[in-house]
Amino acid sequence: MQLSGKERIVIKVGSALLVDRASGLKEDWLNSLCDDIGKLVEGGTQVLLVSSGAIALGRNVLKLPNRPLKLDESQAAAAVGQIELGRAWSQALSEKSLVAGQILLTLNDTEGGAGRRTYLNARDTIERLLELNAIPVVNENDSIATSEIRYGDNDRLAARVATMMNADLLILLSDIDGLYTAPPNDNPDAKLIPVVGNITPEIESMAGSAGSELSRGGMVTKIEAAKIATRAGTDMIITSGTRNHPISALQNGEASTLFKALPTSGGARKKWIAGQLQTAGEVILDDGAATALQTGKSLLPAGVTSISGNFARGDVVTLKTKTGFILGQGLIGYDAEEADLIKGANSTDLESLLGYAGRPALIHRDDMALNPSHN
Ligand code: GLU
Repeated sequence: MQLSGKERIVIKVGSALLVDRASGLKEDWLNSLCDDIGKLVEGGTQVLLVSSGAIALGRNVLKLPNRPLKLDESQAAAAVGQIELGRAWSQALSEKSLVAGQILLTLNDTEGGAGRRTYLNARDTIERLLELNAIPVVNENDSIATSEIRYGDNDRLAARVATMMNADLLILLSDIDGLYTAPPNDNPDAKLIPVVGNITPEIESMAGSAGSELSRGGMVTKIEAAKIATRAGTDMIITSGTRNHPISALQNGEASTLFKALPTSGGARKKWIAGQLQTAGEVILDDGAATALQTGKSLLPAGVTSISGNFARGDVVTLKTKTGFILGQGLIGYDAEEADLIKGANSTDLESLLGYAGRPALIHRDDMALNPSHN
């Protein structure tokens, strides 16, 4: 499997790989993975990590009993374990001269709906970390997530992070090397499927429930993750992380299953934006900006002639030309007052107008759904 040339890769690390029930953190393994990550980064690839292990580490530290934990016990274990987990990544990455930045998310933060303001913040912060050459280390905010805003498994969380950040590839490092025609533990004849082009009901039925003691996500959540990733145009690989240097091993041809990205026409998120019937305001663009949007550019304040409506950052607004032609809709990156303040301004003047270094785009290109005649 060739990984060179990929611009952005998300690697998901399962608890069972990182933490041993008896002896705790598997440092040798962690260091070998960080070695692989260092090589990817040297080759020009941006790497994001989604790491499980907080609950597993915390339950060791707290010496919790050897039985399934109750929700509040897991949340307490995560509170203790997340500190250990962050420190482990930070130390191991620093040995490769890399800096780790911790991001804890809940379900809402990765969706375009109710939590779209924190979604924008999460995405912008992760984007900025990557620009600063730091490695985002993401986990679910297990200690505060209630059941309604909880993923509970990092396979789907990783898929959301990968699609939110427009990654080319998501790699799920697991304790199994891919998808088999049947759960391999019970079926000696089960065969590994190297490539899945389409997740059919037949593929789904192969998942069974291959889980392990320490990780919540069995094959079922991995297939769910594959659906999220591939529908949004991100390839996904399942491979075994049980050996040292798991990414080099993958590059050298170790077994894996590749779920191929489906062709997208803007993806589910853009459909969601386009589908909002009520918008909170209007942004009128000059001709230059209207043309720039059609070539896939973000909307900069400089291209805006006027603004109306009492919207907040993250609300959906209508984009119009000066002659009143509706170009499409987008999630606006600023509250109405600030947007009004910076309309027409050059990017270099944003800081003096706002009093802080604002984000360059009024509406990011990924947050825009243009009408068909303007796509
Ligand atoms: N967020 C959980 C943890 O860090 C892991 C969830 C999972 O196993 O997928 O312990």
